[in-house]
Amino acid sequence: ANGIDVLLSRRANKGQAFSMEERDAYRVRGLLPATFSSPHLQVERFMENLRRMPDDLSRYMALASLQDINEKLFYRIALEHTQEIMPLVYTPTVGLACQKYSLIFAKPKGLFISIFDKGSIYDVLCNWPVNDVRAIVVTDGERILGLGDLGCNGMGISVGKLSLYTALAGVRPEYCLPITLDVGTNSEVYLNDRYYLGVRQKRVQGNEYDEFVDEFMQAVVKRFGKQCLIQFEDFANHNAFRLLAKYRDTYCTFNDDIQGTASVAVAGILGAIKITGKKLVDNRFLFYGAGEASIGIAELLSLALTREGLSQEEARKKIFLVDSKGLIVKNRPGSKLNREKKQFAHEHEPVTKLIDVVHTVKPSFLIGAAGQGAAFTSDVLEAMGSINKRPVIFALSNPTSKAECTAREAYEATDGQCVFASGSPFPRFEYNDKIFIPGQGNNSYIFPGVGLAIVTFGIRHIPDELFYLAAKTLSEQVTEADLSVGLVYPPIEKIRQVSRKIAVKISEYAYDKNLATVWPKPDNLDKFLFEKQYSVEYDDGLPPRWEKPNYST
Ligand code: NAP
Ligand code: MN
Repeated sequence: ANGIDVLLSRRANKGQAFSMEERDAYRVRGLLPATFSSPHLQVERFMENLRRMPDDLSRYMALASLQDINEKLFYRIALEHTQEIMPLVYTPTVGLACQKYSLIFAKPKGLFISIFDKGSIYDVLCNWPVNDVRAIVVTDGERILGLGDLGCNGMGISVGKLSLYTALAGVRPEYCLPITLDVGTNSEVYLNDRYYLGVRQKRVQGNEYDEFVDEFMQAVVKRFGKQCLIQFEDFANHNAFRLLAKYRDTYCTFNDDIQGTASVAVAGILGAIKITGKKLVDNRFLFYGAGEASIGIAELLSLALTREGLSQEEARKKIFLVDSKGLIVKNRPGSKLNREKKQFAHEHEPVTKLIDVVHTVKPSFLIGAAGQGAAFTSDVLEAMGSINKRPVIFALSNPTSKAECTAREAYEATDGQCVFASGSPFPRFEYNDKIFIPGQGNNSYIFPGVGLAIVTFGIRHIPDELFYLAAKTLSEQVTEADLSVGLVYPPIEKIRQVSRKIAVKISEYAYDKNLATVWPKPDNLDKFLFEKQYSVEYDDGLPPRWEKPNYST
């Protein structure tokens, strides 16, 4: 590309960071203001502009447009200012961006495959300009964060997740493809919104839906190969478990809400017991919510408990779940339990109110993932404080507006004694002369590293064991200093190193189990990963120059 095309290509553009030689070589002299800016100055300039914007949605839009204009700069900023940028490209702001997607939509960053494309999904995938796609994040938009059915506006989630693949684990952006399966929406708000961009009809369900998803899975393999990772994201409960069971052994796929969340939460649990000093098997776990997140965590936690010597039955006895109808018990009148819930149903009379459940179960861990907002009221939190010296409270629901409680509420109700983590970030604060840094229990600690290993080594299938390994690796990255300020996860600034550690552990396992397809196996997996990672340094723009040969004949 030459001239203006170079400036318009997000992968080639360096903006003011083009050297004078490059400007001549590419014929862009004069198309840019005269001065040169170092990448560092470009970052500073953008950040200053970003900080003066009126609100986070504007910041989201500015970042989205930077990603289209100068990709390297976008990722350099995400890397160097992770703590400030993550809440903008990811939860909580991405939730707002999805709600307003039809209004703010500017440039496509992924593929919209609608139910009208049924029968031609492969052809639609062929319209994507890159052939070597290795990681897809796909949503059908039915359960976006805790915000419910957002239809095709869920695209924001697929885009945001894949941005973190690159920003947090260095997966090359050209390998990544965000996809929305648009099968309609049941949201009256969008059906009546004249700006809504998606298919304006009720969701397709049943056979037609299943055939559509099936065609999609097969078309991905045909177009990109069977090693292409397909991450399911924010599907509604009734499809999520079903589709995972259907595809997990035949495709390279996982469900982030079930398995990624399970992994990060189990890591948090392993971190928390380092603070409370109680052995894992001596705890009782109460989940508020019994959906993808909670069930996923409960299942992986059972695995962790059995590794500590319990039988599966003993492990499940330590785990209690509350759904919209109260404590999950055997023979609960008026509701049939699904297969997932049944595993954790106790022999107990029904209890409906959370506070009563806390008093009966006497848990040491209270883990919220119901997407209902402020359910951990002060009486619930105080009860946790009076039952335990060091209660553990996780408010995992996203975005912030759906969190079960704030960090401050948890600390204040327990006299600063609780161990706390939340799905969306809360600011640090001082209480009783002590600094608390609320940790973020979000699957973003897990999926980027898992994704990096999968795309780098062509891992074929993704067994649960791999998420247990990731959890253990993550919890081992927590230092004494982190624990002393209440952090059960490494600080966000270290997330990129953590992702690579996870990737290394997972690839060792994959080679061990014959799941990796890159041969020969590299001697040093860490070094190999490092060399394959995306760099935020600009490529050297000038073609190599050779000395003129001496043509004497
Ligand atoms: P889901 O599968 O739809 O499950 C929601 C669960 O909450 C269901 O079991 C539902 O009960 C229960 N529930 C609803 N209202 C309730 C109430 N009033 N009292 C008690 N339980 C109630 O959703 P999910 O995928 O688990 O996600 C839930 C939340 O977790 C969302 O906010 C999501 O953003 C968050 N999440 C966080 C992370 C993270 O990394 N931090 C990852 C994934 C998800 P029924 O079964 O009776 O319907
Ligand atoms: Mn999700």
